[in-house]
Amino acid sequence: VVPVVAVVGRPNVGKSTLVNRIIGRRQAVVEDVPGVTRDRIAYDATWSGRRFTVVDTGGWEPDARDRAARIAAQAENAVATADVVLFVVDGMVGPTDVDEAAVRMLRRGGKPVLLVANKIDSSRQEPEVASLWSLGLGEPYPVSALHGRGSGDLLDAVLAAL
Ligand code: GDP
Ligand code: MG
Repeated sequence: VVPVVAVVGRPNVGKSTLVNRIIGRRQAVVEDVPGVTRDRIAYDATWSGRRFTVVDTGGWEPDARDRAARIAAQAENAVATADVVLFVVDGMVGPTDVDEAAVRMLRRGGKPVLLVANKIDSSRQEPEVASLWSLGLGEPYPVSALHGRGSGDLLDAVLAAL
C-alpha cells in the first residue's frame, strides 16, 4: 500500500506550489486567487526511492459556507485518509487565527503533522518562522516551494514520519 501525504492549510499559502515541487512537475493548479483548488487531487511522488501519494487540497477555512464549506470538508477528508499531514502556513506572515483553528481541526484528526513555513525564499527570512512554534506543532520546516529551498529536508522528514 502506498502511503498518503495530505497538504492542507488556508488559501494562498502555497500548497499547490509545494505539491508541484514534491511531484517534480507543474500539475497542481497554482493561482493568485485564493481557494482555487476545489477538489482534493492525488499525485504519485517518489523521494529517496520511496513512493507515496501526495494529495493537494483547497484552502481550509473555519466556519466556511457553501462552496468554501465543501472545500474545507474535502480538506478534512484528506486529513482523515492521510498517513502524514503537511500543514502549510505562510512563513512570512506568522500564525493567524485561521491557522490556529486549522491546528485544532488537525488535532481532532490525530495524524502526524509536519509544520511547513512556506515562502521563506532566502536564509535572511528564516528568523521569521520562530513565531510559528506557538502553534504547538513542534519545529517549523522553512521552505520555499517556489524555488525549492528546504524541500529536501522537508521530504526527508516526511519519509521519517511515514
Ligand atoms: P494555495 O492556494 O495554497 O494552493 O497556493 P498556491 O500554490 O496557489 O500559491 C499562491 C501564491 O503564492 C502564488 O502566487 C504562488 O506563486 C505564491 N507562492 C507559493 N509558494 C511560494 C514561495 O515559496 N515563495 C513565494 N515568494 N511565493 C510563493
Ligand atoms: Mg491550491
